[in-house]
Amino acid sequence: MPMTAEDRDALVERAWSIAEGIHATASELDAQRAFPAPHLEALADAGLLGLMISPDLGGKGGDLLGLALICEAIGWGAGSTGLCYLMHLCGTAVIAAKATDAQADRWLKPAAAGDILATLAFSERTTGAHFYMPEISAQAAKGAFRLVGKKSFVTSGGHADLYPVLVNASEEAGLDILVLEADDPGVSFQGSWEGIGMTGNSSVQLVLDEVKVGPDRLIGGEGAGQELVFNVVAPTFLIGIAGINVGIAQAALDDTIEHVKTRKNAGGTLAELPTMQTEIAEMTLITEQARALLASAAKAADAGDEAALPLVMQSKIAATEAVIAVTGRAMEACGGIAYSRALPIERYWRDGRAGSVMAPTNEVLKQWVGKLATGLPLF
Ligand SMILES: Cc1cc2nc3c(=O)[nH]c(=O)nc-3n(C[C@H](O)[C@H](O)[C@H](O)COP(=O)(O)OP(=O)(O)OC[C@H]3O[C@@H](n4cnc5c(N)ncnc54)[C@H](O)[C@@H]3O)c2cc1C
Repeated sequence: MPMTAEDRDALVERAWSIAEGIHATASELDAQRAFPAPHLEALADAGLLGLMISPDLGGKGGDLLGLALICEAIGWGAGSTGLCYLMHLCGTAVIAAKATDAQADRWLKPAAAGDILATLAFSERTTGAHFYMPEISAQAAKGAFRLVGKKSFVTSGGHADLYPVLVNASEEAGLDILVLEADDPGVSFQGSWEGIGMTGNSSVQLVLDEVKVGPDRLIGGEGAGQELVFNVVAPTFLIGIAGINVGIAQAALDDTIEHVKTRKNAGGTLAELPTMQTEIAEMTLITEQARALLASAAKAADAGDEAALPLVMQSKIAATEAVIAVTGRAMEACGGIAYSRALPIERYWRDGRAGSVMAPTNEVLKQWVGKLATGLPLF
């Protein structure tokens, strides 16, 4: 049964109350480049790690509109936390789409209870933006899959418990998703996250050194990976990352308004300057446009509307471009102090740079939107 509007509203309200607490410590964790464990614990305690898991397994059975609104709240709280949370939601959603009873017992029930953190390990250095064309192939031998290689940019790497990996594992056409556990023999993590933003997200390399797992780790059977990537992971990621970036843009807007109202120079406040009023109006407009497109894309996708696909793609482009524009303007509007850590504006600006290059990247998405509009095949 789809989530009711009342249930969604209640969850969104709960997410905003947690986001307040996240927001209060976000700058401190950012300065320490610390993995946002306390933030994720708060989300776990509120049952929000089970957002994309069905209620019969203890989850919330969330829809895409709920995902968008909750990700906005958490992204407003802290970009790094939002990203770790979203990758958990993508990981659990893809498992939940085709989980066997045994897989649901092993992974989804504990995840819904807040005891397990998941992520996605799809990207590879050699394929970059084209994560849906992995080069790692898993050899099937004696009923087990043997994996060798490296996945790159794995958010929550070394902190998460579950790592769904996208590989070529079977003889079947299409890709395969295998779920690895952090303590599987041969699984390790390399490097540290040195990115300018999303400092706590721990995007590191996942090293697969002769990892051997059985067919019980396959999601949806052999060759099911490609369909899962496009039907489950893509909408979950695109809507969720759009939500996080609308949240970061809103945080930048909120703090800019607060700053210009209180900052006095040469007798008046910055807010009294007509140019500043125009600046605030344009920042608001950009943020609201991205939020409105996101809501209509999520609603169309929830309704199974055929026109939803390009809308979902555009909502990610719009939100990740909006955050770059709004946080850049916030840096300008708040002046020299925004260039320091005294205000969190510079953090929003750094965090807001990641979304556009996260795959599917905006450049690739724009080509897909154009192809859909002109009736050309995506691939
Ligand atoms: C903070 C952060 C967290 C991440 N977390 C995860 C994660 O948890 N799991 C995961 O699997 N991955 C993750 N990634 C990886 C991410 O999703 C992308 O795959 C990766 O950033 C893109 O790879 P690249 O930089 O090597 O891009 P490249 O392939 O080098 O592309 C560079 C530029 O060229 C453009 N480009 C490339 N090919 C084309 C084309 N055909 N047409 C037009 N333009 C093109 C791209 O749009 C991009 O702008 C993360 C990345 C970041 C930055």
